[in-house]
Amino acid sequence: GLEGAVDEEGEMLPRPPVVTIMGHVDHGKTSLLDALRKTDVAAREAGGITQHIGAYQVEVPGGGKVTFIDTPGHEAFTAMRARGASVTDMVVLVVAADDGVMPQTIEAIKHARAAEVPLIVAVNKIDKQGVNLDRVRNELLQHEIVVESLGGDVQEIQVSALKGTNLDKLLEAILLQAEILDLRANPARAGEGTVIESKLDRGRGPVATVLVQKGTLSTGDIVVAGSEWGRVRALVDDKGRPAKVAGPSAPVEVLGLSGVPGAGETVLAVESEARAREVSEFRQRKAREKTAAAISAGRGTLSDMLARIQAGQQKEVAVVVKADVQGSAEAINATLSKLGNEEVRVRVLHSAVGQITESDVQLAKASNAVVVAFNVRATAQAREMAQRDGVDIRYYSIIYQVQDDIEALYKSRLAPVQRENFIGYASILQVFEVKRLGKVAGCRVTEGVVKRGCGVRLIREGVVIHEGELSTLRRFKDDVKEVTNGYECGMGFRNYDDIRIGDQIECFETETVAAA
Ligand code: GDP
Repeated sequence: GLEGAVDEEGEMLPRPPVVTIMGHVDHGKTSLLDALRKTDVAAREAGGITQHIGAYQVEVPGGGKVTFIDTPGHEAFTAMRARGASVTDMVVLVVAADDGVMPQTIEAIKHARAAEVPLIVAVNKIDKQGVNLDRVRNELLQHEIVVESLGGDVQEIQVSALKGTNLDKLLEAILLQAEILDLRANPARAGEGTVIESKLDRGRGPVATVLVQKGTLSTGDIVVAGSEWGRVRALVDDKGRPAKVAGPSAPVEVLGLSGVPGAGETVLAVESEARAREVSEFRQRKAREKTAAAISAGRGTLSDMLARIQAGQQKEVAVVVKADVQGSAEAINATLSKLGNEEVRVRVLHSAVGQITESDVQLAKASNAVVVAFNVRATAQAREMAQRDGVDIRYYSIIYQVQDDIEALYKSRLAPVQRENFIGYASILQVFEVKRLGKVAGCRVTEGVVKRGCGVRLIREGVVIHEGELSTLRRFKDDVKEVTNGYECGMGFRNYDDIRIGDQIECFETETVAAA
C-alpha cells in the first residue's frame, strides 16, 4: 500500500529492548532513570554528556544495550498508545518498598496489561530502614502480579536508585526478558520509527526525536514524519553526538523536517521526494477526513472505531466496564466475553465497581476503548476529560442493551439508539417536607440547566439509586420552566422520596438517533 516502505534483503537480527518506567508518584521513577543513565559504558567513554531527547540508550558491560523512554509515568505511554503507536517492549514497574502498591501502581499494571507487554518489578528504596518485602509482594499478588519468589514468572529486583544498588541486576533482568521476547529487526531495510518528542528549536528548526523501530535511518534519507517530510540534514544521538546512522531501537534527533510532527506519529524513509510528498498529502487528507467524519457523526470514538473496523484496520473492540455492584460487573463481563467473531474480538481491559474516574478515561483513551457504565456515573473531572479527549462513555441500566450495542459495533452497524443528552447537574443542599407534595429537595444547579419534566437520576456516592422524572421545579414559591447553573431551586420527584443532603441529581432529555 501507500504506507509501505522499500524492504531490502536482510536478516532479522536481535535488537535492544525499549523500556518504559512506570509507578506511583514519588516511588523513584525519575531517580531510577537518572541512575540507570549513569551506568552507561559508552557515555562514560564519550565524556558523559547526556542530553534529554525523550529516550536514551545504555550499553551494559559485555555489550548489550537497553533503550529507556525518558519520560516517567503514564502520560507518554498513553499518549503514544492513543495514536496507535506501540513503542514499548516492556514496563519496569517501580514500587517503593516503604510505601507498597498505591493507586498509580495499579494503573500502571492495567496499562501494561492493556498494551500486552510484560512487566518487571523494581522494588525501590531498599536502602530504607525496616522495609517489608513480603508485604509488597502480597500487595502485587492481589493485582495478579506473581513474582518469582512466590512461584510466578514476574522478575522482581530490589534496587536503590539513590545508592545505585543492583542496577546491574535490573539491566540483566531486562535483557533476559528481551531474550524471552526474541526482539528482532532487519537493520538493512529502510528506516521506520515513531516520534517520541518534538520541538521547534530556534537555531536548528523542527527537531523530532525518533525511536527507530525497523531498519536504519541515515543522514540524507528522505523521510515522512506524520504529515511533515524532509531530507535528513543531521542525526544527533542521545549523547549529543552527530550520527551518520541510527538502527533498530536507537533514539535519535532528526533535523531537516518541514515542520514539527506530533509525538506518536509514524516516521518512514521513502525512496524519493515525490513519494514523500505523496505520503504526506495522503496522511493530511486522512487526518482531515477523520476529523470531518468524527464531527459529522458526533459520536467521537465510537464512529471512529466503526470506521476502523470497516476498513479492516481494527480487529478489536476494547471495553472498560464500571458497574454499581460486583454482580452486574460480572454479568456484563460474561456477556461481553461471549461476543466477537472471526474478524473482531471483544476485550474487557478493566472491570470494576464504582464511579468512572479519570484513570478509567485515560485507560480507555490509550486503548481506543469504549467505557461501559452500568448504573454508575463519571466524576465531573472524568466527564470533562472524556469530552476533551473524545472518549465514549456509554450509560446503561439494562444488561441486554450492553450486548446489543457492542454486538452492533463489531458487526459494523449501529442500531438506532435512544440517546440521552445530559442537560444539567444539581446537588441537594436541604430536604423539606411540603404539604401535598411530600419531600422536596432544596438544590443548587451546578452545571448546565434543569428543566421541568426532564428525566432525572439520583446519584449517591457515584451510584445511580433512582431513575425517574421531576414532578415539580420551583424558584421560591413559583413553578418555573427551567433553572440554570448557579441558581437554587426546589425539586420534587415523581413517586420517590428517599432523598438526602449531598445526593447529586443528573438531568437528561432523550432523543432517538438513527443508524449510522
Ligand atoms: P518519581 O515521582 O517516581 O519520579 O520519584 P523521584 O525519583 O522524584 O523520587 C521521589 C523521592 O524519593 C525523591 O526525594 C528521591 O530522592 C527519593 N528516592 C528515590 N529513590 C530512592 C531510593 O532508592 N532510596 C531512597 N531512600 N530515596 C529515594
